[in-house]
Amino acid sequence: MDCPNCKTWNPDDKEVCWRCQTPLPKPKPPKKRNQSGGYASWMWLLIIAFFAMTLLAQCFFSPLSIPQ
Ligand SMILES: [Zn+2]
Repeated sequence: MDCPNCKTWNPDDKEVCWRCQTPLPKPKPPKKRNQSGGYASWMWLLIIAFFAMTLLAQCFFSPLSIPQ
């Protein structure tokens, strides 16, 4: 796209003009916050579930490993 300040052509993936450092407008923002947020919440649920399983496993198996 052309720079809005100096009218210099810039590649579409550039965020600022290579000549005058003016921020370029973004035609299509690639970020999808909804999907990434859902993915992060699922990761947190998996991490919490993993630690809960580890604690439960220690509670159940520690009396078996130690006879008294
Ligand atoms: Zn420029």
